[in-house]
Amino acid sequence: MALTISTTPRFDWTEAEVKALFDLPFMDLLFQAQTVHRANFAPNQVQVSTLLSIKTGACPEDCKYCPQSGHYNTELEKEKLLEVQKVLEEAAKAKEKGASRFCMGAAWKHPSERDFPYVLEMIKGVKNLGLESCVTLGTLTDAQAKQLADVGLDYYNHNLDTSPEFYDSIITTRSYQDRLDTLSRVRDSGIKLCCGGIMGMGEEEKDRIGLLRQLSQMTPHPESVPINMLVKVKGTPLENVDDLDEFDFIRTIAVARILMPKSHVRLSAGRQEMSEQTQALCFMAGANSIFYGEKLLTTGNPEADQDRMLFAKLGINPEQRHDVSDEAVLESIAAQAKAQADNKMFYDANA
Ligand code: SF4
Repeated sequence: MALTISTTPRFDWTEAEVKALFDLPFMDLLFQAQTVHRANFAPNQVQVSTLLSIKTGACPEDCKYCPQSGHYNTELEKEKLLEVQKVLEEAAKAKEKGASRFCMGAAWKHPSERDFPYVLEMIKGVKNLGLESCVTLGTLTDAQAKQLADVGLDYYNHNLDTSPEFYDSIITTRSYQDRLDTLSRVRDSGIKLCCGGIMGMGEEEKDRIGLLRQLSQMTPHPESVPINMLVKVKGTPLENVDDLDEFDFIRTIAVARILMPKSHVRLSAGRQEMSEQTQALCFMAGANSIFYGEKLLTTGNPEADQDRMLFAKLGINPEQRHDVSDEAVLESIAAQAKAQADNKMFYDANA
């Protein structure tokens, strides 16, 4: 079939067109993806985010890939919500190491009234450090989405995970529609979307096509699209699922780049298991965002220094933010130190 590959966003990709992209010879697909990428982004820049788990484990959802689900015994140590000040210290460290965005993840079905105000404080503090903020907290009400927007949250992460058809084999405690509803609430409140999925959960190519089509039909496209490779964790129902061929993973990144030309496509979980060469091919395929740091919520992530060395080998630079002055950041650090001295920012996580 004749394919029209556009460097500007389209929202009407058909299943046959997306399948035709997956069927392209590997090098042709990478060439097309790289061409789309260069028309929209600086070619050798990668956005760097750091992710911190602010509340770990005992989640009531049953996502089959997740060590944090309370349904499986993964020997993960559970933690209550972290103190605000501790989170801000981690954010300051992440900024020092070159992160431009700080993402905070809580293993909740939805945020409780008790915890939500502390999360709002975390977001304000992260923004005051001159970092972009992102949270993932589960489903939201309209009022919560508005409150997040009011404190200036930049991104909300809520993944679709897979195709609508395969979804029920992975999660039964909430529906695909629940996810779509939260995503539209977040979009309506003016917050940017971070939304993607996980490959290698035993899905077929048609499911990867289905997921990418869903994402490409969102208007506008999610600004950030994490493409994860399953990290198989002992004790989860997917611990023994067959590996996905890495070429199929790279193809998925390339097709995501072509379908969503202006989105940051994030090479996300699973990077630790990938060689430097595979990661380089993912960048060639149009990935231009990574998580940096030692832990990706609860599974390992390549050490920051290793990432720095890989960037140097490939001539890649971390994307910089230019909209916050150093003076503003210094002022905010001083204000946070004062608040700390006044003991205003502590939350008793053991209460
Ligand atoms: S992926 Fe999120 S919602 Fe699902 S079990 Fe893990 S923490 Fe809970």
